[in-house]
Amino acid sequence: MTALTVTVEAGVARIVFDLPGESINKFTAGVIGELTALLDRFDSDETIKAAVLLSAKPDIWIAGADIEAFLAFKDAKDAEESARAAQALVARVERGRVPVICAIHGACLGGGLELALACAYRIASDHPKTVLALPETQLGIIPGIGGTQRLPRTVGLTTALDMILSARNVRARKALSTGLVDELVHPAILRDLAIQRAQEFASGARPRVRPERRSDAKAIVLEDNPIGRAVVFRQAREQALKKSRGHYPALLAAIAAIAAGYDGPPAQGYAEEARLFGEMAATAVSKELVFLFFATTSLKKDIGVPGDAAVPARAVGRLGVIGTGFMGAGIAAIAARQGVPVRFKDTKHEAVLKGMAAVRDVLRDGLTSKRITRQEYADQLSLVAGTVDYAGFSAVDLVIEAVFEDLGVKQTVLREVEPQLPAHGIFATNTSTIPIARIAEAAARPERVLGMHFFSPVPKMPLLEVIVTPQTAPDAVTTAVAFGRKLGKTVIVVNDSPGFYVNRILLPYMNEAGLLLDEGVAIDAIDAALLAFGFPVGPITLLDEVGLDVAGKAGRIMAEAIGARMTPSRSIVAVVEAGRLGRKGRQGFYAYGVDGKKNGVDESVYALLPTTSTRRTMPADEIQRRCTLAMLNEAVRCLDEGVLRSPRDGDVGAVFGIGYPPFRGGPFRTIDARGAAAIVAELAALDAQHPGRFTPAARLQEMAASGARFYPATGRPVG
Ligand code: NAD
Repeated sequence: MTALTVTVEAGVARIVFDLPGESINKFTAGVIGELTALLDRFDSDETIKAAVLLSAKPDIWIAGADIEAFLAFKDAKDAEESARAAQALVARVERGRVPVICAIHGACLGGGLELALACAYRIASDHPKTVLALPETQLGIIPGIGGTQRLPRTVGLTTALDMILSARNVRARKALSTGLVDELVHPAILRDLAIQRAQEFASGARPRVRPERRSDAKAIVLEDNPIGRAVVFRQAREQALKKSRGHYPALLAAIAAIAAGYDGPPAQGYAEEARLFGEMAATAVSKELVFLFFATTSLKKDIGVPGDAAVPARAVGRLGVIGTGFMGAGIAAIAARQGVPVRFKDTKHEAVLKGMAAVRDVLRDGLTSKRITRQEYADQLSLVAGTVDYAGFSAVDLVIEAVFEDLGVKQTVLREVEPQLPAHGIFATNTSTIPIARIAEAAARPERVLGMHFFSPVPKMPLLEVIVTPQTAPDAVTTAVAFGRKLGKTVIVVNDSPGFYVNRILLPYMNEAGLLLDEGVAIDAIDAALLAFGFPVGPITLLDEVGLDVAGKAGRIMAEAIGARMTPSRSIVAVVEAGRLGRKGRQGFYAYGVDGKKNGVDESVYALLPTTSTRRTMPADEIQRRCTLAMLNEAVRCLDEGVLRSPRDGDVGAVFGIGYPPFRGGPFRTIDARGAAAIVAELAALDAQHPGRFTPAARLQEMAASGARFYPATGRPVG
């Protein structure tokens, strides 16, 4: 079966791209072969005067290169050669006799956009699903098929730098205004208009010259002279370094590739792009980011129950949300965004009104950023119905409770709502610390009870932990997983256990930071060390963000459940007891302004800590070792105890749930990269200094002895 179907009518070749057996179009080796043959035909068949490139996939034009192929690169040179070959192919499209007109509807990404940039004319559908982007830097590589060369010439230097470095999607209207596409049309007439334009090219009515690059007036002043350009490149480098803190070399490589071609001869630019593509593809950073891509892709196909059992998910036609506070409002809003009607319940009218206002704020974001129209905003808002009783709950398929973190309150709510639900109705709790099985003790149908642990803020955080007890019915699990995915979340399924997975590994990490405080290490030194490791915020800042009351309570619960190795640090206990709340109270380990802005360490906090005298200096790598090894060891314990189903879930959960540095792939990938034996040796050394806290997990010890790994050393990164 071929991917490209070509029919020629009145001198215009209509190319329909429909990769067999896939939901997306991408450049596989087979497609590249077909494209080469097609270009040969264009060279020899004089009856073909122009061509139109269409996609048969519903909302994808071309998603880009085949990322599977990256795994086959032997080394940097091999990757560079593959980029050069792809560049040569796309150059044939640009310079060939036959002008190619792109009719873009849906996602036009990476290699797809690089091909489009080489075409004579680009028409896009004016539709929310039509987005264009060069997201390569998110995989730790750079565009390698001419994207760093043609994009700046098409949309101007500043816009191109922004697109490539941010990897952001550009919507159709913006694409038109920046010159990324030449014309916008309603999707219904896209094909016909593209054919008409092709005929105009074929007859010579439309000359084959590309318009000059367009930048906004302010940018042109800078871009049009060498000194201005030097300023633009310098600023881009500075921003890239600041954003990546040196961990993502592809950002600087992309800037270098753009710079090489923007001022220098084109051949030099393309050569530099291919060379840097190869160099980046061979980095450990890229391998980890590609791993995460495959890990999340494979999670999307995971229905949530182990084995091959096909347990169909039920559609959640209506949702109930109990508790209209901070989390409840976030959950109700993201459900409404997906068109799901929500019964939104609290005990008092004032609480419901406050919750509705919070829902409105979340939904209004879509309006402000022009992702939705005014009508769509109104439609979404009308889906959320506030209530103080259980009217309407007989029609909800799933209810998510987000009431106070109190076993008694949660069990009361469960007892109240359960008789109102249909027999198949699922009760999900958003508790962060209470065992699901304890809550389910209040249920008449415990098989319909599970946890859906969302993270704060709900609209932004990408992860959802679905927590199952031994009693939870498989169809309740698949339904919760499918619904979480519908809400746009990356979903991992874990077994019920204190802290589930994400908080279970986060707590010992944060507590270790507290224990360093106990030993006299400075607050900012601890945060700086873990920022340098690659976390988005340091652990002490995170304590302030989470709220010291919340963190203190979670710490106590974990210590009770797990035992001595989680004993809370004296420093954290002391600051909690002093009544400091963290950012929300404008006073924690740091001081905060009225606007919530962090103003630096609140030096007065040191008087509360057990070691109040002079601060002790500790090398950053020692701070990193202590905090991160506490986390890695706990992650392996979660696997040993069956809390986690796979290292993959543990890696994705840590990266998406707590911002574990993506360029390290996740805790299990970090262990594999360094080797279990090295990790065990470091843990043992720390355990000798702090007995009982760093005892290596049983599996780690076995792996150290046998040389085993969590993932295969070669080939596909997700086993
Ligand atoms: P919140 O205090 O903002 O909201 C709780 C809401 O529940 C309030 O509106 C309250 O009026 C309502 N409520 C209390 N008892 C009720 C009852 N019997 N029936 C109906 N409504 C009732 O709290 P939150 O931060 O939204 O947290 C809610 C839940 O989510 C907790 O279990 C918490 O542990 C969990 N959680 C919170 C976060 C977070 O960062 N805030 C993160 C993950 C999970």
